[in-house]
Amino acid sequence: MVAAIAAARKDQEVVLLEKGPKLGYKVLISGNGSCNLTNHQKEIPLRDFIHCFPGNGKFLYGALSRMDPEATMRFFEELGVALTVERGGRVFPLSKKSKDLVDALEREIRRLGVEVKLNSRVSKIEKEGDSFRILLSGGASLEFDKVVIATGGKSFPGTGSTGDGYSFAKSLEHTVVPTFPALVPLKIPSVVSLAGLSLRNVKAAILEKGKVLAEEQGEMLFTHTGVSGPIVLTLSRLVSQKKEVSLFLRIDFKPALSREQVDAGLLRDWNKNPRQLLSNALRERLPFNLIPFVLAVASIPAERVTAEVKKEERKKLVETLKGWLLPIDGVLPIETAIVTAGGVEVKEIDPKSMESKKVPGLYWAGEVIDIDGVTGGYNLQAAWSTGFLAGESAAKDHSPCKFND
Ligand SMILES: Cc1cc2nc3c(=O)[nH]c(=O)nc-3n(C[C@H](O)[C@H](O)[C@H](O)COP(=O)(O)OP(=O)(O)OC[C@H]3O[C@@H](n4cnc5c(N)ncnc54)[C@H](O)[C@@H]3O)c2cc1C
Repeated sequence: MVAAIAAARKDQEVVLLEKGPKLGYKVLISGNGSCNLTNHQKEIPLRDFIHCFPGNGKFLYGALSRMDPEATMRFFEELGVALTVERGGRVFPLSKKSKDLVDALEREIRRLGVEVKLNSRVSKIEKEGDSFRILLSGGASLEFDKVVIATGGKSFPGTGSTGDGYSFAKSLEHTVVPTFPALVPLKIPSVVSLAGLSLRNVKAAILEKGKVLAEEQGEMLFTHTGVSGPIVLTLSRLVSQKKEVSLFLRIDFKPALSREQVDAGLLRDWNKNPRQLLSNALRERLPFNLIPFVLAVASIPAERVTAEVKKEERKKLVETLKGWLLPIDGVLPIETAIVTAGGVEVKEIDPKSMESKKVPGLYWAGEVIDIDGVTGGYNLQAAWSTGFLAGESAAKDHSPCKFND
């Protein structure tokens, strides 16, 4: 959509082919329907912004220089979408409705006279001399002098992103880096009964043989299959890559306090109420549902009163609060991932134009490329920026398209 707008604004004749019955289905469901469209934090230089893309951030330097988060916000505001910046620089439509964003893109697409062909699944793309032949699954064949492929990844296939772009890439002699789920929930069967519980300001770490591989601090969530939420999703990329290795998730419920401070806090509470049941006393410090789990890990009977908790038991409780270890049983399938890592090899795409280095006149944009970012609006920003750059670059040297139904 953004590539079509950028090309049409340069007075090009543009045809937008979408296999589904409507445009922007994945954008519609993004951010739980509220669409975290970018991330804007003042004083963050581009070189730091690209660190939020564990998948080939450097490649995005050119696209983000052409359309950075500020330019993206201006782009949407000029299309009539009021925006709001929330905690952590997350940008949303003020209405919190992703539909407003998609409607605005669609209005602009129509205003510019882009021909939108819905229910038009591209089945093949062939290079023929200086032009491209596009075959639709209904049998129609179209000819263009420039093509932008923005078919997305292969997660949430119900949205239309089923990985078709990877077969186009292979048939056009591009390398496809093997895909894997990034930003995906972790499977931890031992905690499924905690489904629905969310935790704020905890620290989670991934451990292999006791060694911390990565850690994140912020919000997480227990689900009916294990754990999810922003910090877990960010850590999941690593788990996805380490398929055959036995890994643990370690949760620190009190990251701002040292072990000594947690211990002193417990003692303070318990001295005030020495005859209180331990399970009740802990309510001050932990969500209710979590207490039986923590006490079981620390091997302390829940019916014990605080004055009777032994020193060794208290020590074990502190250890658990500072580092609850959970065995990870892998990640959920790619179909449930927020984003697909892997894709079209970035070395084969010119980062200054998004043009293929293998096939002149062919451009790549969005998640189909081997790029992926953390949560917080980064993946959509990558899609807008690469789309805009690809559309603008493709707009140079135009000749009209022909239809042969
Ligand atoms: C549940 C969920 C929530 C998300 N929330 C956020 C968020 O809040 N913030 C954020 O930054 N990112 C979010 N993302 C990620 C973000 O939505 C994607 O990274 C982004 O949409 C990728 O854009 P794209 O244009 O490359 O691909 P897509 O948005 O996937 O679009 C590709 C389009 O190509 C069409 N297509 C595919 N194959 C063909 C074909 N053969 N012929 C014709 N058309 C075809 C598809 O139907 C689809 O409409 C979320 C993802 C999911 C799944």
